[in-house]
Amino acid sequence: MMSELLVLKDVVVSYGAVMALKGVSIKLNEGQIIAVLGANGAGKSTMLKSISKIVPLKEGKIFYKGKDMASLSAHDLAFQGISHVPEGRRVFPTLTVEENLNLGAYGARKRLLDEEVEETKKWIFELFPVLAERKNQLAGTLSGGEQQMLAIGRGLIAKPTLLLLDEPSLGLAPILVKEIFNAIRKIHEESGTSILLVEQNAKKALAESDYAYILETGKISIEGPASELAGDERVKAAYLGGS
Ligand code: ATP
Repeated sequence: MMSELLVLKDVVVSYGAVMALKGVSIKLNEGQIIAVLGANGAGKSTMLKSISKIVPLKEGKIFYKGKDMASLSAHDLAFQGISHVPEGRRVFPTLTVEENLNLGAYGARKRLLDEEVEETKKWIFELFPVLAERKNQLAGTLSGGEQQMLAIGRGLIAKPTLLLLDEPSLGLAPILVKEIFNAIRKIHEESGTSILLVEQNAKKALAESDYAYILETGKISIEGPASELAGDERVKAAYLGGS
């Protein structure tokens, strides 16, 4: 039986009077890709931030590898194998591509050998050859798509068990969207990393994931195997452009 890697149980998060998550429960088994879909402002980013301790829980619990995450500090996350790739490709613009990648390994150095980091870097350069070509270039001079690849690479270099991806395809041209989703599939196939993928691009995300949740104003409204959701009339009407 597959073991539960991440469990959110009745998670409530609020920003002052705004309740962004109103009792969210999800589950991700080891080795799965889970998608969380929803419109702008549904609470998708907040959900990832609650896992990586950027925002505190008001109520509920989050378990990682069966352990209540309340006992972990934000600094423990990289060491525990959780990498969060935030929305908006936040790379360090005045550092080179390679320096950005090296920084991604920083928090996980205590559990990684130098050789492992170098091996993983090679693999990232295979996944995204354009990063290899530009490894000495300042990250601020990369295109939007390249910066997104670098942001994902920075998450991967820590060899995470769980990769949290916040809208990796946002604002990218269709060809790059395709490239990013292909890379997500490869990452999963080649490393077995479990992935929690937050997306507005429902069609692409459902095609790559095992199971999916629809988040609507802070609540899960629909959930099921991704292939079932892709054929669900409600999902089609609201998230797949009626197609
Ligand atoms: P988007 O795709 O636009 O990022 P999202 O689904 O990720 O949307 P969140 O960013 O999680 O949604 O936002 C959920 C709700 O919480 C929204 O109503 C948003 O306005 C609110 N919110 C998010 N961050 C803050 C904050 N720092 N302070 C106050 N309200 C916030």
